[in-house]
Amino acid sequence: MTKVVIVGAGPAGLLAAHYLLQRPNNQVEIYEKRGDFESSAFQNDRTFPISLQTRGMDAVREIPGLESALTSFDAEGERRSTVTAGVCMHRGKSERKISRPATLSVERNHIASVFLRELRKANPAENSSLKICFDSAIEGVDVEGKTLKVTKNDSEDVVVPYDVLIGCDGAHSKIRQMLSEQQLIQFSQTTTDESYKSFYISCSSEDGSVKLDGDKIHVWMFGANRVISAPTRKDESAGVFIFPGGQDPFSDLPDAEAVLDYIKSLSPDSLAPLVSLKEAESLRNRPVATLVEVTCDKLTIGSDIVLLGDAAHAMSPSLSQGCNSSLQDVQVLMGCLDQCKGDWVKALPAYNEKRIPDSQAISELSCYNNPRNKWMRYEFIFRMILLSLLPKWLSNMLLRPLPLMLLAETNLSYNKVLEKCRWWTDRVKNSPSEL
Ligand SMILES: Cc1cc2nc3c(=O)[nH]c(=O)nc-3n(C[C@H](O)[C@H](O)[C@H](O)COP(=O)(O)OP(=O)(O)OC[C@H]3O[C@@H](n4cnc5c(N)ncnc54)[C@H](O)[C@@H]3O)c2cc1C
Repeated sequence: MTKVVIVGAGPAGLLAAHYLLQRPNNQVEIYEKRGDFESSAFQNDRTFPISLQTRGMDAVREIPGLESALTSFDAEGERRSTVTAGVCMHRGKSERKISRPATLSVERNHIASVFLRELRKANPAENSSLKICFDSAIEGVDVEGKTLKVTKNDSEDVVVPYDVLIGCDGAHSKIRQMLSEQQLIQFSQTTTDESYKSFYISCSSEDGSVKLDGDKIHVWMFGANRVISAPTRKDESAGVFIFPGGQDPFSDLPDAEAVLDYIKSLSPDSLAPLVSLKEAESLRNRPVATLVEVTCDKLTIGSDIVLLGDAAHAMSPSLSQGCNSSLQDVQVLMGCLDQCKGDWVKALPAYNEKRIPDSQAISELSCYNNPRNKWMRYEFIFRMILLSLLPKWLSNMLLRPLPLMLLAETNLSYNKVLEKCRWWTDRVKNSPSEL
């Protein structure tokens, strides 16, 4: 038996547990600093729709039943996921619809709670191969002794031995930090120049003047601010209000009325009618979340520690790849393990060699996808429209590809996508920023 300790019950950690428990000789322990979230009420503060594309869904489909669990109704009769086939850009009263291949938009909190529920279902309590510890934060790692120090909310610290340690503890990974302090890994971590708040709007206005297409991701752009929203619930569209870092547009507004007035000043016709007074008040009070980008010089340490998901490569959400690449990490790692016949000593170096070019490529693509000034933004939208209108053979002949399109429409490796899109990422990198 190999005792695999997974730190973090996010999408990457939970999917890794699913994969491991489908393979023989693994005993899995998961440590998660949050409380048990399977049955707890949905927290709206930090959720938003995640667009799951080919790469993420391919990884999910290897676990029987997981895809249908993601798309079915939950206990409250809500679906919390929807199939979207493109983007609807709102400007004044007009809309510009850009068709794109269908993807599944799922609320972030829903992904983790479905993965957890299905994991428990497939591995009932009497099955000793799975142990999940909530309210348990990792505070130390002894690489030589192969142990973790775990701080539990309600009791003394405990020391947990491991054979293999999988760090899936997200963008601010403690495991990564501790490995770096021991000079076992080098990483860079930067806060992006954008922050966001979760934001919920109705799918239709009370007077019936506005109705959001149920199969589109909706985007409103106001200079450096923007709203992105997907109708994942019955009458509600979940999304984010994004603004330049440190410039919360709501912090100085005295009350919900003032928030509504502010939104009316940005988009009186298509966004403001969808915002309730209650939501305006919540928006004012919600915490501001910052976005970080992380790249590591390696993904594995020796033959017994590996970082997956945001812990290994957090990125800006501009390309909708953070979760997709996290889920693909799991699939690639397990592919290496299978190829090495379950031998972790061989599998981890093989994984590092195979995945590091893609991990670094997707970080670069995400970092330099978004135009940084008005003119490039116009060009970006114009190219997107052309690409969606022209027949494929003609657009392939006339237009160079954009990262967003190649990632959504192909299953090319991230490294290959970067190769084909360097013309764009280099231009973004070298363009003057107006933020
Ligand atoms: C606004 C926004 C929009 C996004 N949209 C998309 C999208 O459309 N498509 C897409 O693919 N991705 C998207 N992403 C990215 C996606 O949310 C992440 O890439 C994904 O959640 C990463 O999963 P993870 O399991 O690696 O990390 P996380 O989801 O961050 O999970 C990490 C877990 O580790 C736990 N943890 C942390 N520290 C400790 C500790 N010390 N001890 C124990 N447990 C710990 C945390 O509580 C958490 O449960 C978006 C992100 C943002 C912010």
